[in-house]
Amino acid sequence: MKTESWQQCIVPSCGKKYNINEQRTRCECGELLDVRYKGDFPKSLQQTFSERLNHKQNIFDESGVWRYRELINFAGIDTEDSSSYSRKLVSLDGAEGKTKPFHLTRVAEYVGVKTGNIWLQFEGDNPTGSFKDNGMATAFTHARMVGAKKVVCASTGNTSSSAAAFAANELDMGAVILVGAGKIAKGKLAQSLAYGAKVLQVNGDFDVAMAMVQALSKKSGIYVVNSLNSFRLEGQKTMMFRMLDYLRWEVPDWIVFPGGNLGNTSAFGKAFMELYEYGWIRKKPRMAVVVAEGAPTLSDLYNEHGLRWNNGDIDNDIIDDYYSEVDRKGIKAKTRASAIEILKPVNLKKAVRTLEFTDGVVAKVSDELIMDAMAMVSKNGFGCEPASAATVAGTKKLVEQGIIGADESVVGISTGHILKDTTAIVDYHFNPKNRFANTPISVEPDIKEILKLVND
Ligand SMILES: *Cc1c(COP(=O)(O)O)cnc(C)c1O
Ligand SMILES: [Zn+2]
Repeated sequence: MKTESWQQCIVPSCGKKYNINEQRTRCECGELLDVRYKGDFPKSLQQTFSERLNHKQNIFDESGVWRYRELINFAGIDTEDSSSYSRKLVSLDGAEGKTKPFHLTRVAEYVGVKTGNIWLQFEGDNPTGSFKDNGMATAFTHARMVGAKKVVCASTGNTSSSAAAFAANELDMGAVILVGAGKIAKGKLAQSLAYGAKVLQVNGDFDVAMAMVQALSKKSGIYVVNSLNSFRLEGQKTMMFRMLDYLRWEVPDWIVFPGGNLGNTSAFGKAFMELYEYGWIRKKPRMAVVVAEGAPTLSDLYNEHGLRWNNGDIDNDIIDDYYSEVDRKGIKAKTRASAIEILKPVNLKKAVRTLEFTDGVVAKVSDELIMDAMAMVSKNGFGCEPASAATVAGTKKLVEQGIIGADESVVGISTGHILKDTTAIVDYHFNPKNRFANTPISVEPDIKEILKLVND
């Protein structure tokens, strides 16, 4: 099956199109771009996707990204001809995107939703420990299409880990990574160093590093793999495809996930817009994006300043005024959930488009609630990093507010692995004041004392 594809400005009143092989992060008018498709997307593909689960050593059937290649076919491949597509598609040998939703009884109780009605999909089970691998498979595929030899990204840590790993796995590709000095969790920094990327520690936070990358891309033409890259978002759509595949294409009432640079918000919305257009689904899930109190841009703009997509006719003054205020007051993002410690999300406009399409909501949660939620996920024998726990914290808050009903179905996306930020976890448990702290007990090597504690 073949598909036509191109890049197009997200704003309908501009709508300028670009060739799929062009390397650019924005339209000439300055707005973001979408990857667009024209082709046949019969519902019978659902059967094809299931059959590929029995992958018979084909890594592109095994990959949870490329299993859905008909729905992300910007490389113009013949999806049935492995001899041709295997040279074009980039994969960590089929390892990315092997995730599915799980039931978690204690988490269900904690947030107040019926156990059978709530799932968490652990994208931390990806090869580099975060959902970013879904998007890197497609971003690197496009990088290969345009002949790039080097990629660059700004990162709170997981984008860089993933980019570094994919670059390492390619034969002729380097990765340069800009991180805020002291702003990324140890596990993530360790990965970027270990995979061999060139790591630049910028004196500033993520927003500063992101601004540098945007300037760099204009100057040097280096290939950017931040979620500003619309090809990366194509891969991130597959998180929704896997979820739907697992739920037999029954759309849940709610999808809940954290919002940082708002790539997932954009990608998830686009996935559903396309499936809706193809006639695969009739119901739209409502999306709940959860941000941290210390990085509240989307919540402030959407809930308080009335920012709306408005069919692409966005009131830019609302955004400009907000950011000038932020700059004037010298406000910086601050949260323990470092992966969402972002004040100027690049995908803001695509995110409000998603909110419009899905009648979405934005929840804002405190670090305290995030850390308690993280502890609760682990009390269920699973685990995640702080930013991912915003999903659970946000669900709890929305249930309490009566926005999510106790009988509604919810799929939460858990974005990163428990071992990414062990400092945050250990700090939490060493402080007995925390609600679910499991503080270690110090004891002398005295068998009587130890026996007493064992039997306690
Ligand atoms: C990147 C990241 C996020 C933020 O996702 P966006 O798509 O940028 O909104 C959230 N959680 C984790 C663990 C991440 O790595
Ligand atoms: Zn445009």
